[in-house]
This record gives sequence, C-alpha cells and structure tokens, in this order.
Amino acid sequence: MPHVVTQACCGDASCVFACPVNAIHPTPDEPDFGLAEMLYIDPVSCVDCGACVTACPVGAISAHDRLTAEQLPFVDINALFHETPRSYPAQAPVTPLVARTSTDRLRVAIVGSGPAALFAADELLKRPGVRVTVIDRLPTPHGLVRAGVAPDHPSTKTVEGLFRHIEEQPGFRYLLGVDVGVDVTHDELAAHHHAVVYATGASHDRRLGIAGEDLPGSTTATDFVAWYNGHPDHADRTFDLSGHRAVVIGNGNVALDVARVLATDPERLAGTDIADHALTALRASAVREIVLVGRRGAEHAAFTLPELVGLVERDDIDVEVHGDTLVVPAGTDVMTARKLDLLREAAARPRRPGARTIVFRFASSPQVVDADGDGRVAGVGLVRNDLVPDGGGVVRAVATRDVETVSAGLVLRSIGYRGVALPGLPFDAASATVPHASGRVDGMPGTYVAGWIKRGPSGFIGTNRSCAQETVDALVADANAGLLTEPAGASSEFRRLVGDRVAAAIDLRGWRAIDAAERAAGRTEGRPRRKIVRLDAMLEAASTSAASRRRRPRLVRR
Ligand code: NAP
Repeated sequence: MPHVVTQACCGDASCVFACPVNAIHPTPDEPDFGLAEMLYIDPVSCVDCGACVTACPVGAISAHDRLTAEQLPFVDINALFHETPRSYPAQAPVTPLVARTSTDRLRVAIVGSGPAALFAADELLKRPGVRVTVIDRLPTPHGLVRAGVAPDHPSTKTVEGLFRHIEEQPGFRYLLGVDVGVDVTHDELAAHHHAVVYATGASHDRRLGIAGEDLPGSTTATDFVAWYNGHPDHADRTFDLSGHRAVVIGNGNVALDVARVLATDPERLAGTDIADHALTALRASAVREIVLVGRRGAEHAAFTLPELVGLVERDDIDVEVHGDTLVVPAGTDVMTARKLDLLREAAARPRRPGARTIVFRFASSPQVVDADGDGRVAGVGLVRNDLVPDGGGVVRAVATRDVETVSAGLVLRSIGYRGVALPGLPFDAASATVPHASGRVDGMPGTYVAGWIKRGPSGFIGTNRSCAQETVDALVADANAGLLTEPAGASSEFRRLVGDRVAAAIDLRGWRAIDAAERAAGRTEGRPRRKIVRLDAMLEAASTSAASRRRRPRLVRR
C-alpha cells in the first residue's frame, strides 16, 4: 500500500531525502521543484517503508489505508503527477553542504524569525562553532506560521514542532521584541557578528491603483489575515462585516484563505487558534457571499490544487463559478485540468439553502471601488476581460468595455505581498527584494538575505529550506575564504547594548512562557492555543508565568 502526500505539504523536501527509493518528486535538484504545488509520491516505486512519514515536519504524509475521507483525493493526485514518466536515479540526491574549514567561533545575527530565518538558523547550526542570534521586532517568533497560516489549517502549523527542535539546539538564541533599524542599527549588528542574515519576509501588499481603493471598507487581505491571526499591530482593527457580500480581488492561496474564513461557520473556527476578537466579529457577520475575482481564467488561477481540494471538500460552503466555461483547453497540464474538473463538479452541486457561498468570478478586473452616501464601500465596478495570448506563452487579461457593478460591503485586495526596504540595504523597488547573488547582498560583504525578501513572495513554508540552504552555503563559503570580518564587539557587549535600548527583550525561555500561557488558556476551551494579541500582555506572560518565576527572569532588562 503506497504512502500519499496530502494537503498540508510544506515542500521542505525532508521526505525526499528520507525516501530510500527516490519515489518522491520533484526533488530540489529537478527543474520543476520551484514550480510544484506540493510533492508527490510515485505509487509504483513506493516501498511503503514509512520513512517519509517520520521525516515530514507537518504530518502531511499517510499510508494509503490511513487517509481520512477528505484526504482520499490525494491518492489520485499523487499518482496523476507520476503518470508523466520521469527519469531519475534510484537514490535521492544528497543535499550538498558546504562544510566549515575551521571550528573557530562564527557569530551570525538573523533578522526575522519566520520559516526562512529558522531554516537559516538550522542550516548554520549544522556546522561546528556557529552561534546564531535570531532577532524579531515582535515578542513572538515564527512569522507567517503564526500570523499568516489560516486558523483552519492546523496541520500546516505543526511545523512549529520542527521550529521547537531548531530553537533547542546549542548555539541558538532569541532576542525578541527588538526592532532592527529602530533599536539597533545594521552597523551595530555587523560590528558584533561575523555575518548578518536578513529574513524579514514581505510584510506589505501590492496596490491595485484604482479609484476608491482606500475607501473605508476597502483594505488588504494581508491586514485581514493578520487581524484574524492575532498580530498585535492589527488587534485594534475592525472590519465591517454587516453587508451580505464581500469581494476579494485576486486568485492566489491568500485570496482562497480569506474567502474560506469569511465563508466558514464561526462555530467551526471556535476550536482553532483564531484571535478572539476575530471570532467575535465573525460570529456577528452578515456576510453570506464572497466573490473571488480573478483577472484571468480558471486555468490561470494562482491558487493551488491541494487548497482547492480542501475547499471543495467542505460541506458547509457552496461554490459558484462565473465567467469561465471550465472547458479544459488542449495542452493543459494534468494538475490544472484536475482543478477545472473540481470547480465544475463543485459548481454543479445543488445549492443548500442558507449555506455561505464562494463565487469564483474569472476574467474580471476591478476598475473602481464605489462609495455610498457616507463615503463607505458600496460596490466594485468589474470589467470583463478578454484573455489574449501574448505570443510568449503567457495569456494576458485585456479589458473590454463590458462593466458591471457588484454591490459589496467589504472589499479585500489579495494580489500579492510586497517586501519593504531595509535601512542601510539596497532595494530593488520593481521586485521589492534586496538585490543579491546566491543570498549575498550586493555590495555588502558579510550581509545576506533569505526567504521572501530575497526571492519575492512565492512558494510554501518549506520552500524556504532550500532558499536558506543556498544563503548559508554562500555565508560559510565566505567564512572559509576569510571574507568575513572578525566582530569588533563581543556577544555580551551586544546583549548589553540591546539591554540599554530595549526595556524588555525576550529570549527563548520568555517565548516558551508566552507559548505555554497561550496553550494553557486554549486547553480549557478545547483549542490549540488562545493567542495573546497585545504587546503588554505578551511581555507580562513572558515575565510572570509560573515557570518563569521558578527560574531566572526571562527578560533582558535595562
Ligand atoms: P499569489 O499566489 O502570487 O497570487 C496573486 C494573485 O493576484 C494572482 O491571482 C494574480 O493574478 C493576482 N493579481 C496580481 N496583480 C493583480 C491585479 N493588478 N489585478 C488583479 N489581480 C491581480 O499571491 P498570494 O495569494 O498572496 O500568495 C503568496 C504565496 O504564499 C504563494 O506562493 C502562495 O501559494 C503562498 N500561500 C500558500 C498557502 C497555502 O499553501 N495554504 C496559503 C497562503 C499563501 P495573475 O496570475 O493574473 O497575475
């Protein structure tokens, strides 16, 4: 009975290296790895040993006969990928690792504490003599795993178990609640470390550039996601959910996440780690229809097949499709064809009275966000697009004159994240990334980038593993070549510097105390955790938990 990769696949490829018969593809050295929506086990060559199950950090792999009903479509999806013959060696590639040529102490500061930062720390700590300090402006680490992954995707969040192992390694240190560029400068970081790695992600959003985009009631999906995930910067936000219809612009996985959260029965979310304020607001929500607007056709949609499978399996959400015949064009790849089949099947199901509905509206672009008499969002003018091949293999959306206004009380644009320039570092405004070569920041020896600020907002949590590997290999090669400057200041001096500037910088034990407090509060309500969403309450939990009081204080104090 073969094993099967399911929806939560994070793409970090740990399973690939564990498989003794190289049955899991694409492997990181294959050209389609960067484009793959997940990894797939070949049912013919799988020997059912289960090594991949142990290696997977998010529990996404199961034996064929242990799948839940919702996971059954993945049997087919894994097999489908392998229907196209691939040639590969009998054993998976071994990840090449640039070894250190010295065991001297190598101190690295990593800015950011999301997946790219923690994978970079993990890669560095595989080498002897390395010490990493992971710095984040928030008191809580884990970036988008905490503040981005939808609350109804708990298996994706199990990657936190892997993060815990990384954090426990000797040589790992957190300095949380420290804002680089505000509390400490890049020059100060560089003066106290051999190297600095920026893994700050892409925290802003792209703009549509249309009239009415900033009206009250029109905002970004990234804000909405951060709000329902309890990001402290968004704890005081409110979203008007009093209208019948919400419109989400964009066709990626984030758009699908926000549409699904808006369409989910709040009682289903009550058992998740969704922020309390969001659960309260969603319980009072009048939104019954969420229109997901894609500027191109269904076959061009950026949302992935695993996520679409997860949506159409849901028995509490109806699906409608407008603006696309869902006919599979000749030459369409099998995975995209499966997407169209799923949409067609879901849209053909009878509507259930009272069910919340997600309406996929393809080949449409917003032209204007309209206001009501009070200056609030009243609707969106959507223009129908012709889909025109550009001759270079890309199909472009070309606006017609056919415009329709769709009334809505909430408009969320979800057209991609955008990186933010970092103080003292070069920045390419077009790609919103830091210019680099294999992770080495242009013109700044000893400074590196990893994750979305390096390659732009694409891929999955585990994609950051290979991205961080490349950066760390470059860093270690530079150390071996003697290109990194010996720090002028000791690490104790750096901690003193931070202690002088930051009233309460939180270390690993402080984060553990926050984590324990959240989990304990969640346990009483049958939830994985009840998130603390205010900075002062986070600091309080870090310093006053029972565990903290038994041991030395967890805060670096002034
Ligand atoms: P994304 O995948 O890049 O999708 C962006 C969407 O916005 C595309 O549909 C794009 O359409 C559309 N768009 C861009 N500019 C537009 C414009 N001016 N007007 C209308 N539409 C426009 O971005 P994302 O959804 O923010 O996701 C970011 C990354 O995180 C992705 O790699 C995603 O897979 C990942 N993610 C994964 C999960 C998960 O696995 N569960 C969840 C969330 C995010 P075109 O294709 O026409 O450009």
